[in-house]
Amino acid sequence: MKKTPVIDLGRCTECAGCIEIAPEVFRYNSATGMMEVADLLRYPEDLVDEAIKNCPEDCVSWEIDH
Ligand code: SF4
Repeated sequence: MKKTPVIDLGRCTECAGCIEIAPEVFRYNSATGMMEVADLLRYPEDLVDEAIKNCPEDCVSWEIDH
């Protein structure tokens, strides 16, 4: 089972709060003008949970692949 953080880009306001919490996971793509999730083999669960909790738009969640 793999857990990957995903961002609902329709709701994201690019406030960069998630980058402050987990800069190795979340980043701003200046070419698309949108946030994106880095392609990692394993994501730091605690930090992503923290980013989920603190996202003002409530638009970060885990996607679970079985
Ligand atoms: S914290 Fe939420 S609203 Fe802010 S940039 Fe990250 S995903 Fe977007």
